Amino acid sequence: MLPNDFPEDLKPRLAPTPGGDMGYDCLSCGRRHAPDQLLYTCPDCGGLLMLTDAKFDELKRKPGQFWRRLFDHRLMLNLQAIRGVFTFQEFLAPNIPLVDVVYLGEGHTPLIAAPRELAKTVGAHFFVKTEGQNPSASFKDRGMAAALSMLNNLVRVKNLGQVVAVCASTGDTSAAAALYAASLGGSVKSSVLLPKGRVTPQQLSQPLGAGAAVFELPGVFDDAMRVVERLSEKYQVALLNSKNPWRVLGQESYAYEVAQQFDYSLRDKVLVVPVGNAGNITAVLSGLLKFFRASVIDGLPKIVAVQSKRANPVFLYYRQPSASRSYAPVTVRPSVAQAAMIGDPVSFPRLTALAAQYEATAGAPAFFVVEVDETSIMESMLLANRNGLAVCTQGGECLAGLRAALAEGLVTPSETAVLDSTAHALKFVDFQNAYFEGRLLDDYGIKSRPELANKPRPVNLGAAPVPGPGVALSAEERERFVSAAAAQIAVALGLEDKAR
Ligand SMILES: *Cc1c(COP(=O)(O)O)cnc(C)c1O
Ligand SMILES: [Zn+2]
Repeated sequence: MLPNDFPEDLKPRLAPTPGGDMGYDCLSCGRRHAPDQLLYTCPDCGGLLMLTDAKFDELKRKPGQFWRRLFDHRLMLNLQAIRGVFTFQEFLAPNIPLVDVVYLGEGHTPLIAAPRELAKTVGAHFFVKTEGQNPSASFKDRGMAAALSMLNNLVRVKNLGQVVAVCASTGDTSAAAALYAASLGGSVKSSVLLPKGRVTPQQLSQPLGAGAAVFELPGVFDDAMRVVERLSEKYQVALLNSKNPWRVLGQESYAYEVAQQFDYSLRDKVLVVPVGNAGNITAVLSGLLKFFRASVIDGLPKIVAVQSKRANPVFLYYRQPSASRSYAPVTVRPSVAQAAMIGDPVSFPRLTALAAQYEATAGAPAFFVVEVDETSIMESMLLANRNGLAVCTQGGECLAGLRAALAEGLVTPSETAVLDSTAHALKFVDFQNAYFEGRLLDDYGIKSRPELANKPRPVNLGAAPVPGPGVALSAEERERFVSAAAAQIAVALGLEDKAR
């Protein structure tokens, strides 16, 4: 749609202009720091940072109806910079001008209703938001779009020359970081640190393909994270983990889109989110709070955070009575929800701060954490897939989490859930294959159910000539091959003859 065809009152706001008053807030000492620098911890006390807009209240001067109409109309405006997470620029990172925005096709992922049979089996109506349809095939692209747009802005405005970006990753952060950095024509060189053997081959191929420097370290994610933290304390590097608060802002777009996809009515909804480093759940809570405070949505949905029993520090924390909770990292054990296999989540202090605000604002219990076992994760993933929804293992974790929340009565069958399928199923296909072949028992404690396993069936044609690349069959040989193969498949499928 051409700019001139939009309603008069929206025309001046269609393309967002820089505004707001962004700053880094320290969660420990409360000091505020200027946004035009790369900070990952508070320079005064080392505390974790959140980015906030000191002029946020100005957004409230417009009625919620204005923002709803603006965001909905922006979906029809063919302007690259706002096609992704910057549709919501005013709520996300209002300081970033559109010229610096990096857009690779992230965001606005489909929201898909679960087929009726599957909803019946699970016991509630639910939707899946397919974050695997982002450019590097996970939701991490949302955060990278914001972080790299900001970095792009700093490189331009401050003439930084070349920046070296680093991140530790369970596989998807590195894929996203490498791709977004590669799009900047050499100003940002990315390097990624991976726990050796703890990312899938597909995930490993991604930063390699994007030309990043890839380092494999012994240990699990938490160990690689410590090395990256040391690098960012001691050396001139840009940190692209979700400790970088610009990433959290980008990931808020998930919440904004869910609101938009339900026409801004989230009262009877339940958002189910897998938790690893707790960046994503932080972003979801923060985004929903912002939309609620500006009356863009009229109520806050329930939130169900899900962890595997093998990487459950957040669950263990919230299970304690609220007056006397204490936090302790856990030593993780292998989990098929490998992208969330984190024992000491970096964003934990952000999560507790936001979850408390969320509950206070909702005025009722609205934030829950459940844990699920490995078998339920795999079986939920396979169940979804067998009902037309291709979800990753973390999507399976969400479905397992919804079932656990229903069983515990935290969610009722009259509510509608939204599962965050955080990555593309194909990134984690090796877990499916291992399940089919019964290879998940030793490391993951998962016993395969034969009725869920599947494998290719050979069509055996004996010694007859068969086709192949560069092999030319005679007409007669081809006819014999086709009829023998068709006959064998018809028997296997129990097909009935048309003639009868
Ligand atoms: C990173 C990731 C998670 C965990 O998100 P956090 O922000 O670390 O809590 C879950 N699923 C996938 C596919 C991921 O890549
Ligand atoms: Zn501080």
